[in-house]
Amino acid sequence: MLVGRSNVGKSSIIRQLTGKKVVIGRRPGVTRRITRYNLGKMEIVDMPGFGFMSGVPKFLQEKIKTEIVRYLEGNRKRIIFALEILDARSFSEIAERWQRRGQIPVDAEMFSFLGELNLNPLVVANKIDLIPRAYRDAVLDDICEKLGLPPPWRQWTDIFVPLSAKTGEGIPELKNLIKQRMHAAGLGRYIGWLK
Ligand code: GDP
Repeated sequence: MLVGRSNVGKSSIIRQLTGKKVVIGRRPGVTRRITRYNLGKMEIVDMPGFGFMSGVPKFLQEKIKTEIVRYLEGNRKRIIFALEILDARSFSEIAERWQRRGQIPVDAEMFSFLGELNLNPLVVANKIDLIPRAYRDAVLDDICEKLGLPPPWRQWTDIFVPLSAKTGEGIPELKNLIKQRMHAAGLGRYIGWLK
């Protein structure tokens, strides 16, 4: 199960992980629908992008969030684990905008919600190729802090993965963490879908 804002790179990461792009179903109702990728015995469920979307009215954004929460609660038992994708470059700026308004950033809210549902969320900070190496540690520490994970980020490598779907950096680490979760769920024999 995959969540994240629109345009953070969810489809690109699915392609990197599976080597394919097979859409099997769409649920009508919102701008970007819940999309299911068939992996044989399993599927990846890509949630609609949440949070600020330019041109999308606020009531519709709320509707999308509600739809995600309903789906998660309704399908809790079928979900092996959750993957939350962030855009490492724009995350801090967006989060600060929310905090200035006295609100909890929606990505942080989603992360703690996934934890409350015991979905073992993995957080991927995507697009790190866009951050100069000299700043990466500071940016990643800041992201962790805003998610409620005290820095340094390097102590969270079992749940937090800096990644670039463009260069492939971080993909092996992400695959390993996914394999661990599949094994922990007793589903180690079904990891063949990972490229
Ligand atoms: P989605 O809306 O979350 O499914 O995002 P997409 O996978 O469609 O990606 C949105 C845009 O970000 C596309 O133009 C991608 O080429 C680009 N993108 C995705 N991942 C990366 C990345 O790691 N680095 C860079 N520089 N661009 C990326």
